[in-house]
Amino acid sequence: MRVAIQAGYHFMGCSFQRLENSLGACDTRSPMLVHLGPKGLHCEKGGFHVDPARGVERALITHAHSDHARGGSKEYLCAAPGAGLLAARLGSRARIRGVPYGERIRLGDVIVSFHPAGHVLGSAQIRMESEGEVWVATGDFKRDHDLSCAPFELIPCDTFITEATFGDPSYEWDNPEGVCRSIFDWWEEVRADGATAVLFCYALGKAQRILAELTRFTKRPVLVAPEIERLNYCYREEGVALLPTRDVASCSVESFRGELLVTTPHFFQDRSGSALAGLGRIQTAFASGWAKTGRFGSRTYHRTFALSDHADWPSLLRTVEETGARSVYVLGDSSERLSQTLRKKGVYASRMLPDSERHRGSSCEMTVQGELFGNLSRS
Ligand SMILES: [Zn+2]
Repeated sequence: MRVAIQAGYHFMGCSFQRLENSLGACDTRSPMLVHLGPKGLHCEKGGFHVDPARGVERALITHAHSDHARGGSKEYLCAAPGAGLLAARLGSRARIRGVPYGERIRLGDVIVSFHPAGHVLGSAQIRMESEGEVWVATGDFKRDHDLSCAPFELIPCDTFITEATFGDPSYEWDNPEGVCRSIFDWWEEVRADGATAVLFCYALGKAQRILAELTRFTKRPVLVAPEIERLNYCYREEGVALLPTRDVASCSVESFRGELLVTTPHFFQDRSGSALAGLGRIQTAFASGWAKTGRFGSRTYHRTFALSDHADWPSLLRTVEETGARSVYVLGDSSERLSQTLRKKGVYASRMLPDSERHRGSSCEMTVQGELFGNLSRS
């Protein structure tokens, strides 16, 4: 029977899931363990928020990207491998407790554990268990191979709260090892031409993934923007092998020829836009999942590489099915397509609309895409 509507509602102080099918029948299920409040995902029984949009008493953070890890909370809990990155993002005064993957801790009346999400170093799905019901909030995740972080762990659950950054059938990733091989081949071509290869990408996660994957092809050092080098330190502290790197801000321009520079636009913006010209002859490229459809980057850069740290469309569907979840909530701007598709498959699925702050913000990959397009033109 096709489910047409699912909505959350409140009664006598409790939130319940209301599931309506196409005949108008209403199925009242168990109380909602997590709901989307004004500050973000809130677990009242556990006394915590997940990736809150504003400061709270206790914040559980799925990963250190700026649209998930925000300052102002009294206490932060995250997966232990991501604690260094979170401290780098929030500052030394933030109270951060790293919890080993899989360790079960009690918060209020809820048993909580962090499990690998495969998105970036220390990224975690958050498993919440209360009165025999298991909920999982994914944060951002991917199922693809990534040398720079622990692989996604499948967590069976009753209710699954998933991201859907690439919740559209047009997003289906090529083999990421092949994409990284293409990045190396492009660098070789540019090097042979005596130019400098400038690769733009997000500073946290994508840059380190590329630096890790390139170890399969070379041992040559790579130039990086200062903000990337700062985060590289956190990866190396957690034992992730990256190519040797040099902070581009401390190198002379003459040394750039034939080199690969991995950077964000900020490095150039902070230098009045003249630094690109100072590099001499360059070839530019852009690495992001958004490059897959050609909507972004193809007219701005010489090359684009569709390399994403999010689940593609088939992976989203597969993951929902494999969790065995009876109910699914989908987060983000692209949530409607996924929730519609899941409902057609007979899954109780609903969009979980972001609060106003989250809505005005942008996803990890959308952020870098917007920055790049607003400030660079193809040279
Ligand atoms: Zn992210």
